[in-house]
Amino acid sequence: MSTGAPIVIIGTGLSGYSLVREIRKQDKETPVLMITADDGFSYSKPMLSTGLTRGKEADQLAQATSADMVEQMGIELRTHTTITAIDTDAHELSIGDERLAYSKLVLAWGADVIRLAIPGDGQDKVYSINDLMDYRAFREALDGKKRVAIMGAGLIGCEFANDLRNGEFEVDVIAPSDTVMPGLLPPEAAQAVVDGLKGAGVRFHLETVVERISTQGDGVELALANGETLAADIVISAVGLRPRVELAKAAGLQVNRGILVNRALETSAPDVYALGDCAEVDGHVLLYVLPLMACARALAKTLVTERTEVKYGTMPVMVKTPCCPTAVCPPPQAAEGAWHIERDGNSVRALFKAPDGELLGFAVTGDYAVEKQALAKEVPPLHD
Ligand SMILES: Cc1cc2nc3c(=O)[nH]c(=O)nc-3n(C[C@H](O)[C@H](O)[C@H](O)COP(=O)(O)OP(=O)(O)OC[C@H]3O[C@@H](n4cnc5c(N)ncnc54)[C@H](O)[C@@H]3O)c2cc1C
Repeated sequence: MSTGAPIVIIGTGLSGYSLVREIRKQDKETPVLMITADDGFSYSKPMLSTGLTRGKEADQLAQATSADMVEQMGIELRTHTTITAIDTDAHELSIGDERLAYSKLVLAWGADVIRLAIPGDGQDKVYSINDLMDYRAFREALDGKKRVAIMGAGLIGCEFANDLRNGEFEVDVIAPSDTVMPGLLPPEAAQAVVDGLKGAGVRFHLETVVERISTQGDGVELALANGETLAADIVISAVGLRPRVELAKAAGLQVNRGILVNRALETSAPDVYALGDCAEVDGHVLLYVLPLMACARALAKTLVTERTEVKYGTMPVMVKTPCCPTAVCPPPQAAEGAWHIERDGNSVRALFKAPDGELLGFAVTGDYAVEKQALAKEVPPLHD
């Protein structure tokens, strides 16, 4: 074990920076080195799908530069630097040929966007948005354009659809499912969101997929499996994220859907921890902010004082579709029970109840969305 080596945190997304903030609340001295493949700007990723609605350019969404973070947090920070391997026995990282010692290592390196291999010569017009640098490139490409096609009708696809309509772009959403956010919302709540987005002018092409993207003039033509063709200036691909596990796996760490950690955020290797979008915490892969904040608080205590396990409370998710405000707290996957639905136009109150009447999850849209906090208090936490 390398004495005198710093705590090394890989990744400066919300997980990495939340963790270092929590560490510094308790300990100003321990050397911390952060390493990131991107520019190290601090920003709130959920804001990326509300930029046009808020009238903000990419750089206005940044809360601090990497230099600001170095000063505020008293850390060393290496930007535009990609970790290429981990040697857990030697407590060393590789950055290409360079070797670097760590005392404790935290993997906060997020998730990769899933890229579909769609034939055609129009791939240069396809954007995936999973960090501020992606968003900057997307906003530059959007300048002077009018028509955006979005592949994917999950949370991120729907949020961008609403935001782009608020920015007065023409928006087409294409997805294989028969509704939006099928894994997250019960059908009635999903339909309310579809209706809200349609009311805002979004055009849906559901139960089909994009088969070809071909250059056409300055834009592209999308050929859909249902025989339709659509013209667009830009395409957003929002078809999902996959926790980054490859480097961890190559280092011999146990992985499943994410990097496997217990409730103390410990991986299968000594002194190596993981949190955020890359981690599978006690069986949960939750690519949201509330869980990573809870993990950051627990892990900071573990790193500077005593081993502490994370306690997940209820984890409601707000969907930023202002045309149909929506909040959801999905029931546990194996939960026994049934949805009880009330609908009044675009306002849906969907309550998932156990046979004994206990509330295990909910989805509320429209006027009922204001009930989210009260309902969240009734749902049992993920961890007792
Ligand atoms: C558009 C959008 C809207 C969202 N809205 C919401 C919302 O409303 N509510 C909510 O709860 N969640 C939302 N989410 C999800 C939430 O933002 C994420 O769960 C969270 O930001 C993940 O943070 P992270 O730090 O774990 O990962 P990331 O932010 O992806 O950070 C990963 C970091 O690791 C670095 N990195 C990766 N690989 C390497 C390497 N090999 N070497 C060095 N550095 C590396 C990257 O450069 C980056 O700094 C949204 C996500 C998106 C994309």
